[in-house]
Amino acid sequence: MAGGLKPGRKLKAIIPGGSSAKVLRADERLKLKVKQPDGSVIEREISINDIPMDFDSLAAAGSMAGSGGVIVLDDSRDMVWVLNNINEFYAHESCGQCTPCREGSLWMKKITDRMLRGGGVIEDPHTLKTIGDNIAGRTICAFGEACAWPTQSFVEKFPEEFAARAQKPLPPALPPEYTPGELIDEESISTVPLAHDPGWEKAGAKGTI
Ligand code: SF4
Repeated sequence: MAGGLKPGRKLKAIIPGGSSAKVLRADERLKLKVKQPDGSVIEREISINDIPMDFDSLAAAGSMAGSGGVIVLDDSRDMVWVLNNINEFYAHESCGQCTPCREGSLWMKKITDRMLRGGGVIEDPHTLKTIGDNIAGRTICAFGEACAWPTQSFVEKFPEEFAARAQKPLPPALPPEYTPGELIDEESISTVPLAHDPGWEKAGAKGTI
């Protein structure tokens, strides 16, 4: 396809149906039902090199044909960088009508951006997955799934790369919340914005979600 990989490069992953489709690893073995010439159906284990590029086969493999915009990634690609690039697009394109999509797409982008800049904390892969899980199926249009599926699948399929960029210790708990009564009575309550909480900075995480 399209001239193949550059010389010396190995296939790492494929996103078969546009950036919202779930990513498939090159070394994955997929179990697909294949129709035989006599009409019987058998289950066969195949690699992504052999997967038929049709709607049913890609859906059975856990992804989709989607827009048909195939993205091929070779072994020079950093998967956190790739996901951040995708997240940036969806965070920008969300229309903002539904809270899970509006907030979640931006949170996912901020986290992958922080991971790329060396501030990833241990909890980040889990947080990314949780945000994705709480967007998909909770919005009024399919953009919710479109922005959640890349994060869900990248974190699941490339855990080692995400863990490698999430090495900082967990930041300390955020300052306690105050009741409205305490806020009226207590003049000395700190008004430092949570986004600049020094605890997070001490833990090496510049900026928070
Ligand atoms: S899911 Fe659709 S309607 Fe809702 S905020 Fe996202 S783009 Fe807008």
